[in-house]
Amino acid sequence: MSGTSSTGTASTATVIAIDGPAGSGKSSVARAVARELGFQFLDTGAAYRALTWLILERGGDTDVEATVIASLGALDSLGLTVDASGQRVTIDGTDVTEAIRSERISGAVSGVARTIAAREAVNVRFREIIAEAAPGIVAEGRDITTVVAPDADVRVLLTADEAVRIRRRFGDVGGDQHQVGASLAARDASDSQVVDFLNAADGVTVVDSTDLTFDETVDTIVRLATEEHHD
Ligand code: C5P
Repeated sequence: MSGTSSTGTASTATVIAIDGPAGSGKSSVARAVARELGFQFLDTGAAYRALTWLILERGGDTDVEATVIASLGALDSLGLTVDASGQRVTIDGTDVTEAIRSERISGAVSGVARTIAAREAVNVRFREIIAEAAPGIVAEGRDITTVVAPDADVRVLLTADEAVRIRRRFGDVGGDQHQVGASLAARDASDSQVVDFLNAADGVTVVDSTDLTFDETVDTIVRLATEEHHD
């Protein structure tokens, strides 16, 4: 996948995988990295959120595995643009780009995420998108470095202390900070039972953004993607 040069000149990776917990800033950071490199951008959480939206729209409960499985046919109608200036998400003919960001969806999405058949179905789609990407793609989520694209040229686990993540998320959604903190911690606890995104797998670089500004975090990952390879 890499454009690594044997002459020692700078080479730019074509697949950059970024995982991390909720509120780590993954999405905004990944989008900015993609923009800077002229790459496409894939927010994989959007697929889990779109399925959640559809299930709730139909009056279902994401904690019921059979309901989640029954919704998977709708993935045929899932549209995910990979535009670094802003990914649009559609499902079942509806543009849900904004609707899937609500706390209601965040509170229900873990049920979808823990359904193995749902994970396998969305992963097929993600791998197709990544394989077709040109000239490169930044994909972010929970299991991109380990399951979706373990061969990615650059693999990053983006972390930040929980207090900082809650503060960043609080800035995002407003509302009661205590409740936001509780819901973020609950989602991480549930998600981490399905995939381990709290510890870096072999070969994955940890970028701790606790004391970094947004721009510094983006620069760190861009540097990892463009650093010189001397063979
Ligand atoms: O990244 P975001 O917060 O939008 O992800 C929403 C949810 O989707 C996560 O809380 C997690 O349950 C699920 N998810 C996942 N694997 C991914 C991306 C997201 O399980 N690769």
